Order: sequence, then structure tokens, then C-alpha cells
Amino acid sequence: MKIRLHWKLTFIFCIAIALGLAAGYFYLESQMKSSFERELAVDIEQRLLLGRELLENGISSGVKGLEDADAFAKKLGLGQKLRVTVIRKDGTVAGDTDVLPEDIPLMENHLTRPEVQEAAYNGIGVARRYSYTTKKYMLYMAVPFGKGESSGFLRYAMPISYLEKAQEVSRKNIGAALIIVLALSVFFTFAISRIISQPLEEMAKIAKAMAGGDFSRRPSIYSKDEIGDLASALKYMADEINDKIEKIKHEGVKLDAVLSSMFEGIIVVDQKGDILLMNPSLRKLFFVDSDPEGKTPLEVIRTAGVQDMIDRILADKERLISKEISVMRPEEKAFKVNGVPIMRDGVLEGAVLVFHDITELKKLEEIRQDFVANVSHELRTPISSIKGYAETLIDGAIDDRENTKDFVKIIYEDSNRLANLIDDLLDLSRIESGKMKMAFERIELEPVLERALGVLSKTIKDKKINVTRSIPEVLPKVLADEKRLAQVFLNLLDNAVKYTPDGGNVNIGIARMDDHLRIDISDNGLGIPQNDMPRIFERFYRVDKARSREMGGTGLGLSIVKHIVLAHNGQVWAESEPGRGSKFTFTVPVA
Ligand code: ADP
Repeated sequence: MKIRLHWKLTFIFCIAIALGLAAGYFYLESQMKSSFERELAVDIEQRLLLGRELLENGISSGVKGLEDADAFAKKLGLGQKLRVTVIRKDGTVAGDTDVLPEDIPLMENHLTRPEVQEAAYNGIGVARRYSYTTKKYMLYMAVPFGKGESSGFLRYAMPISYLEKAQEVSRKNIGAALIIVLALSVFFTFAISRIISQPLEEMAKIAKAMAGGDFSRRPSIYSKDEIGDLASALKYMADEINDKIEKIKHEGVKLDAVLSSMFEGIIVVDQKGDILLMNPSLRKLFFVDSDPEGKTPLEVIRTAGVQDMIDRILADKERLISKEISVMRPEEKAFKVNGVPIMRDGVLEGAVLVFHDITELKKLEEIRQDFVANVSHELRTPISSIKGYAETLIDGAIDDRENTKDFVKIIYEDSNRLANLIDDLLDLSRIESGKMKMAFERIELEPVLERALGVLSKTIKDKKINVTRSIPEVLPKVLADEKRLAQVFLNLLDNAVKYTPDGGNVNIGIARMDDHLRIDISDNGLGIPQNDMPRIFERFYRVDKARSREMGGTGLGLSIVKHIVLAHNGQVWAESEPGRGSKFTFTVPVA
């Protein structure tokens, strides 16, 4: 059960005050009792001394042999509400307020009474005891009086109940006063404890809110005491924690941003090997939709190689493990995975694996190897041919004038092909490496086309190719590198003429398409099988190698076209039907 602080304080203060008041009460009461007794004793003593004087005066004025002592005792005693006893020097009673005159002689000898004994020795005697005569507890006080025969002891007695009654009254008064003091104290204690506990309760509420993550509240206490100090410490603490939390949040956001924007995949596991974190890149690579936290990498990535690496790191705490891992699902990919253990103060806390996607790199490597093989092969053919014919000529064929001319012609054609091949290769490598600077200008498209046709005019004429144009009268200028654009026209027109039988048709159409000009070069030649279509823009790809070579082709023409068009922010594509012809289309931006 929760007891609120101000009730506790009130209770404790009240107990303390009650104890203090009780102690005060008992002290006062005892003080009062003794002071009452003292005062009473003094009072009785004075009255006794006065009574003695009266008695001695009476004796001297004729009260002989104490005959009137009884009347004196009764008169004096009744007047003062006291019991007055006159005792002769032999101890017999001469008079007593509370005893009938006829019974006086029957009274016991009083000489042995303690107060009388004490009076005889000290001049005054006091005693407290039960009186069989009055049947009450009495306070006795006696003094000696007179001289010679008329001497004796005058004794006053008062029932102690008088004293007790007076004490009872003042005790009640003190009690009532103390109760009033107690009631006021309870009230003030309650008020004070409320004042003390209120700020503490406020701070307790704020501390509770802070524990629950709410750092917005601040105590409204400005007193210059310990509670004020506590409040400002709480304020400072809230500010600091808030600051730290903001910083942690900020760091978290930064880390999240870094992890999310990283191209590399990252997976973090705990010391048991369960996933703590998997960044979006890795999730995307492995198509992980559900939350991977708490699962094992094998469950999520389904690749034994990754699980093996993690097991090795966690088991052996190896510093850095690098491994190439290939996965077939969800798609064929290759990764270079680096893994390190996470250690804190020499204790293993988990592991981090970083996945570098090297699929493209691998493909490029393959392409590079293919390219080298292709180039070597392409170079080898004309070189072997040149070498073969040159050897034949050296071996004596040079004397045969008829053959020599043919052989030299073949050597000339092959060296031309070699030169073309090397030119194309150089162009391609320059375009691909970005070293070929494009000089973009606003140019007219048609003259470029006409110049390319001019270059091919002899072949066109020889093959009786019918060239037609579908070109609007007014054409906007384009933004292009004239020389490179001419090469595109030349390569495409050359192909159209090359792969179209004699007497065929080649049509050049130009049309505006939004902010581009679209150029179609169609022929009704051989066409390209559908299987080969996706690859015709690849380097060295030729549908019919022998025929292409025979026609002086290098297999690089369309590849060069593609690169130049893309460098112009244009697009290139082809449509074809074997036996019916092909249509190559490219776009160039309007200036
Ligand atoms: P090549 O030097 O062999 O002509 P290209 O890169 O220019 O190389 O063309 C690649 C291949 O595409 C050619 O070998 C040819 O098979 C095919 N091709 C290109 N243009 C045409 C066309 N207009 N008609 C038919 N086939 C074509």
C-alpha cells in the first residue's frame, strides 16, 4: 500500500509532537504537584504559626490549662476548613476539630505521632498518613506551643484529597491546553508537510515521466534550498538526457541513412548467429520481404556459404574472412563477402558481413576475355592470309605474273580489312573509355546524310540499289557531332547496301518525334533472324560471319553506332524479318 509522503510527514510530526507534549505534560504535572505541595505546606505552616500565636495569646490571656483548647480547635478548624488538634505536652489531646468534646478524653495519646515527634525535635513536623479518626489520607503539620504546663503541640491536618482535587483541576486545564496545542500542531504539521512534500511529489511525477521517455516536463520550483537544488539538478538531468537522446536519435538516423544508402549489403549477427540487422541493399538483393531479425542467415539468404562464414567467425573469432560466393537464386549473382567479428573488451559480441556485388565485374571480366579472344581471332585471319600469300610469293609465285597480281590484290584487301578493323577498334575503345570528345553543334541533318550516301555512291551504283528518301521539306537542326553522326549514317547505310541484294531498295525516312528527330534506314535485303536480334549491337556479333567478312565487315559497325547514338542522348533499335528486310532506327535531339 502506498502512503503519500505528506501523510507520512504529518504522522511522524504528530507522533513527535504528541510525545513532546506528553513528556511536557508529565513534567509539568510532577512540577505542579510538588509546587502545589510546597505552596500548601508553606500556607499551612503560616496558618499553623498564626494559629500558634492565637493559641499562645489565648493562653496568656486566661486560657488556663488548655480548658478551652477544644473550642479553639473547633473554631479555628471550621473557619479554615482544616482539622486542628491541640495536643498537651504529655501527648493527650486537648481539643480536635473533628472529634466531639465528649470523645476527646477517649482519644489515643498523640505523642508518638511522627509529625509531633518531628515538631518536638525540629520545631515543625510534617507527615502524611491515613487517619483512623477521619478515615482519610491526611497531610499533618505540627508545631510546639507555650511554655511549662500550658505547652504542647498545635497540629493542623488537611485531607490530601483537597490537594488532589486542586491538582486534578489544574491537570485538566493543562490537558485541555495541550490538546489545543496538539490540534494546532496537527493542522500546522499537515500544512507544512504539504508544503514540503508538494515539490517532491511534483518531481517524483516528472522523474516517472522521464523514466517513461517523456523529457518535455520541467519542475516549476525555484526555492533556494535543498529542494530547489534537487529541482535544478532534475532540470539539468532532463536537459542532458534529452540532449543525449537527441544525439543518439541523430546518430541512429545517420547510421540508418548510411546503411540504407550503401550499395553494399550488410548483415550483422549476434554472438549466437541470429540476425540483428540487414540493410535494405542486401534485402533487395535476396528479395527479403519479412523482418529478418532474430532469424539465422541460412533461413533468410539460403546460402550455405554465408552461414559457413558466420559460423567460422563466431567459432574461431578470425579477424577477417573474405570469400567469393555465388548464388543461383533468386537470380544468378556473385558476391565478394568480407566478414569480421565484433569484439568488445575481448568478448565476442557478434559478426558483420559486407557483401560486394561483383556480378557486373565478373561479367565485364568475361566480356574482356571474350573481347581479347575475338580481337585476336579477327586479326589473325587477315594476317594469316597476308602471311600465306606473301610466303607463296617469296617461294617463287612472284614470277607468275598472272597470280602475283591476284595475290597482291588479296594482300591489299586483307591489309585494308586489317586497317578497317584497327580503325573500328580504336574508335570503339575511344568512345567506350570516354576519351572521344564529342563536339556538339547545331547542324543540318540532311547534308550529313547526303555525304554518307556520296561515300557509298559507287557501291550503290554497282549494286543498282534504289535509294529513296522520305524527308520533310523543313527539318529542324539537331545538336550533334557532325563527324560522328556521319559515321552512324555511313555504318547503317553501308550495312543496308551490304546486306541487300543487287537491285534492292534502301529508304531513308526522317521525322520529328517530340524533341528528337527520328531516322529510319530500311532495306528489303536479307533481314536478321529473330534469335540474333538482341545481340546485333554487341561487339563482333555477326549473323553470318563468313558473309560479313566477305563483305569487308568487322562486326563492330553497329556497336559503334550504338555508342555514338547513346552519347548524343538518343536511342537506337532495329526491326527485321529474314528475307524481307530490316529497319534500323535512331534518334538525335533537336537543337
Ligand atoms: P558487320 O561489320 O559485320 O556489318 P555490324 O556490327 O555492322 O557488323 O553488324 C552486325 C551484324 O548485323 C552483321 O554481321 C549482319 O549480320 C547484321 N546486320 C546489320 N545490318 C544489317 C542489315 N541492314 N540487314 C541484314 N543484316 C544486318
